[in-house]
Amino acid sequence: SNSDIQLAEAPPGIEGQGFFATSLDHLVGMARSNSLWPLPFATSCCGIEFMATMAAHYDISRFGSERMSFSARQADVLMVMGTISKKMAPVVKQVYLQMAEPRWVLSVGACACSGGIFDTYSVLQGIDRVIPVDVYVPGCPPRPEQILEGFMQIQELAKNESTRRRHTPEYKALLASYGIE
Ligand code: SF4
Repeated sequence: SNSDIQLAEAPPGIEGQGFFATSLDHLVGMARSNSLWPLPFATSCCGIEFMATMAAHYDISRFGSERMSFSARQADVLMVMGTISKKMAPVVKQVYLQMAEPRWVLSVGACACSGGIFDTYSVLQGIDRVIPVDVYVPGCPPRPEQILEGFMQIQELAKNESTRRRHTPEYKALLASYGIE
């Protein structure tokens, strides 16, 4: 009868790490990377370049990402574009905290990356002082091609990230270094 049928050994790639570490991860990564929803956190001039990035000529919809998410809870990529004052820093962090895992952060332009030309008492000298950043795009402002290049690097991260990375001690330690549980 059928109940007597037993496999001598599990088919390769289905049991243990094999299946989850390769096929499922690959499938999930591919799907995620081609449907990343950005949350545009634009505070100044770099945001204007992002408008060009969204428009027909550069066309971010080619990457499955034309759907901007102004709700943090539905966003995958936080794109910070512009000067972030120290008063605005807690807001950036709050938005990041409201995003569900997995989440990625793209820092666009010199101001978001390092404070840029505004080395003053009131400007945050880089958003990585309050949240972890995955990809930095330099420039004042970066051209749309550069923003897309940074976005494609986020896609690569999403495509190649294990579905289990967010549960690792290393990732939790990274968040803990920012005071995030
Ligand atoms: Fe404006 Fe330059 Fe700062 Fe971008 S990096 S927000 S273009 S001053």
